[in-house]
Amino acid sequence: MIRRLMETPSLPAKIHPWRMATEHGCLNGRLALAALPRLIALLGGAEGEVVVALSAGCDAQGVRFIQGHLCAEVEWICQRCLGPLRLPLDVTVNLGLARDEAAADRLPDEYDPLLVRESGDIAVADLIEDELLLVLPQIPRHEDPRECEAHGYARPDKPALAPKNRQPFAVLATLLQDSQRSH
Ligand SMILES: [Zn+2]
Repeated sequence: MIRRLMETPSLPAKIHPWRMATEHGCLNGRLALAALPRLIALLGGAEGEVVVALSAGCDAQGVRFIQGHLCAEVEWICQRCLGPLRLPLDVTVNLGLARDEAAADRLPDEYDPLLVRESGDIAVADLIEDELLLVLPQIPRHEDPRECEAHGYARPDKPALAPKNRQPFAVLATLLQDSQRSH
């Protein structure tokens, strides 16, 4: 049963956002991470999938929107120990449709603008990938340093990190010397 659910390819390749909002449409299903090349370029692996639960409509102010959640568990390389790191992503989507930049500027603050022509459609994978890319951590790391130690990382109270930390100052000192020399 679970296996059958996981294989349900219920997401269309493209949606027409304005029509979807008018029709109060939904977008529910799963998308393989392998379909998101810009995202997997940043990850430690392409295994897994994104659970997509989005719905569209029109709010009281007449703003067409696409709202919902994206959930995924992705595999990273921890930037502290270079070991594998599984990290859940849970993205709240709150997109307001805008025909052009001016309309995007007029959207209420709670919406992130989605620029799309009224006759236009967009690839579902692009939409989902853009939203996931926005919430990626800058420097993914195990939350608990003990997990890093389990992958062979030495604690920074030993001098393991010291050369890296000192480096910017070494560069600064060189720059200072250079600028003094040039005067
Ligand atoms: Zn780590």
